[in-house]
Amino acid sequence: MNFFTPVSGLTHRDPVDFIRRIFVEKSCVDLPYTREILSRAGAIPVEVLDDRQTPESGLNPYPESLAQGKRDLFLCRNRGKFFKSCPGTREYRCCGYYVLNIGMNCPMDCVYCILQAYLNNPWLSFFVNVDDLLSELTQAVVVQNKGFLRIGTGEFTDSMALDRLTRLSGILVEFMRDKDSAILELKTKATVVDHLKDLDHGGRTILAWSLNSQEVMAREEFRTAPFEARLAAAADCASWGYRLAFHFDPIIYHPGWKEGYAETVERLFDSVPKESIVWISMGALRFLPALKSIAGKRFPNSRFFHEEFVPGLDGKSRYFRSLRVEMYKHLFDLISRRASSDTCVYFCMESDEIWREVFGFCPEERGGLPAMLDRTVE
Ligand code: SF4
Repeated sequence: MNFFTPVSGLTHRDPVDFIRRIFVEKSCVDLPYTREILSRAGAIPVEVLDDRQTPESGLNPYPESLAQGKRDLFLCRNRGKFFKSCPGTREYRCCGYYVLNIGMNCPMDCVYCILQAYLNNPWLSFFVNVDDLLSELTQAVVVQNKGFLRIGTGEFTDSMALDRLTRLSGILVEFMRDKDSAILELKTKATVVDHLKDLDHGGRTILAWSLNSQEVMAREEFRTAPFEARLAAAADCASWGYRLAFHFDPIIYHPGWKEGYAETVERLFDSVPKESIVWISMGALRFLPALKSIAGKRFPNSRFFHEEFVPGLDGKSRYFRSLRVEMYKHLFDLISRRASSDTCVYFCMESDEIWREVFGFCPEERGGLPAMLDRTVE
């Protein structure tokens, strides 16, 4: 068993330690990037599959097969688009993000993870045709001149969970270095950041961590980095000149939530220089109805899905508005006491009414949420 020691010196198991098998699509075997990844794979067994054949992740149907599938890494070609605008919804204020699709599924395992209901196959896919990815990114960022772009890689996976094998974040950081019309945000619950230390990042990459109360992080997130390790990795990145972001998402109601979130906020600002934080988002738990039964079967000891929820305008279940507002106000008050006035605190997918009730204004009054975020990093 390998233990990963990040620059901070805190030791814990990296998500890559849980991968049991690597499958490679035949036409990708000789790509230099595939070879590079396999050279870091140590003793993990590798099997080559015919093109368009997929890994066999056990006999169980989906989602039961996720337990094994999350340990099967499939290195393959992305035959679709790498780059697209984030789907968002019409009903809630969305932040105008672009997403770079680097792979599907995640080796970590959070009870609330929406991917369990979105995906229909269990294995971890990672796209190795990185030259195609970079040429699509060049088209979008350099050639097409679509205005200022905020780009993330974490729509269908965690941005950095496989970095110990892939080092993709380093490739992207170096690509973005001189792209003044865009910013990349790498959102993660992992802490492999040592390879980012000596890179010339040009300030164009933001390192972002999802945070929660310590109880939620400990009980509802499996194989993720412990809270202390996330803070230490963030502090390291700040010391190397990277800008940071944090996402309180999903905010989950549980006994002791007020104290739990207060402690997280205090420890965050005790650990990381507030000037390095460009934005902090808040999003209360929301989920597709199918997720409740999937996660309920996979994690029968988890209790938070048993609270009362109402269907939102986007079909997702949410807490009652009064509870959402109470949780947001509490967290915003805690954050406001410690954050820099230059940090943009915002909601992920909430209505104008909630914005007004909690922040006292709605995004349109300040040019819209995309413009508010752009202004903090342009
Ligand atoms: S880290 Fe993110 S992508 Fe991975 S299981 Fe947790 S919520 Fe899902």
